[in-house]
Amino acid sequence: MNAARAPEDIIAEAMSHRPVAIYAAMSGGDTSLATAHWMMTNVPGCRVFHANTGIGIEATREFVRRTCAKYGWPLDEIRAKEDCGQDYREMVLQYSFPGPGHHRKMYSRLKERPVRLLVKRAKQKRADKVLIATGIYHDESMVRMGYGERNINFVGSQMWVNPLYWWSKTQFMDYLRAHGVARNPVAETLGMSGECLCGAYAHRGEKALVRLACPRTADYLESLEGEVRAAGHEWGWEGKPPAGGARVARVVSPSNTDRPGMPFCRGCEKTAENAGVAA
Ligand code: SF4
Repeated sequence: MNAARAPEDIIAEAMSHRPVAIYAAMSGGDTSLATAHWMMTNVPGCRVFHANTGIGIEATREFVRRTCAKYGWPLDEIRAKEDCGQDYREMVLQYSFPGPGHHRKMYSRLKERPVRLLVKRAKQKRADKVLIATGIYHDESMVRMGYGERNINFVGSQMWVNPLYWWSKTQFMDYLRAHGVARNPVAETLGMSGECLCGAYAHRGEKALVRLACPRTADYLESLEGEVRAAGHEWGWEGKPPAGGARVARVVSPSNTDRPGMPFCRGCEKTAENAGVAA
């Protein structure tokens, strides 16, 4: 294991690369909220970025907007459709709901493209780097799944930084309490932000959990399932393709080569594994 580093040390190293723009990616979950607060307090010029995936809990998006307005944080919210022209709804009507084997495509359409657009707007020169801070933190189970102990990662012009990587979950929660930062009620109920619900790793019963946090979103998923079935596809949001879908066990393998290029997508595989989807 690498030696733990202080957030100030990690950010100082990142700033030595002279990023032309600095963002704190805020999904609405506890760790991204604490990270955004830390970044906005400690890093001059930082803005908040929220990827609007087009399929997530609307109450979470409202929470992100409300929190940024409350603290006066500049917010860049980019919807996936702005870049690829096709929303989640249009994709699932055409191809149906994804299984684990389609996660790469979902990540690319729902999260990677808003990031690319954000970076494209911020860059002036080809060599420019754009810093994006995330709430990823050290977690043994995540390390086992191949996330590694990386504090700074480059994906082209994107410089992904995990400033609070060495904090424990308890430290994140203590930080929020100490600074009087209100949590997202959705994260309190679900244990996650729910800002991205592609369903690639959705398991039986997950829609009921979504309903607990946001009945509107669960209603929307059900109406979408009706539309998808009417379009000729057989399985629902919690289901997966009957054949040809990669098993979760393969997708979450530590040797998964997708991982280094997917710094903004995490947790769903872990949730699925914990729920026994991989079994
Ligand atoms: S697997 Fe999770 S984070 Fe990745 S695109 Fe799907 S819902 Fe979003």
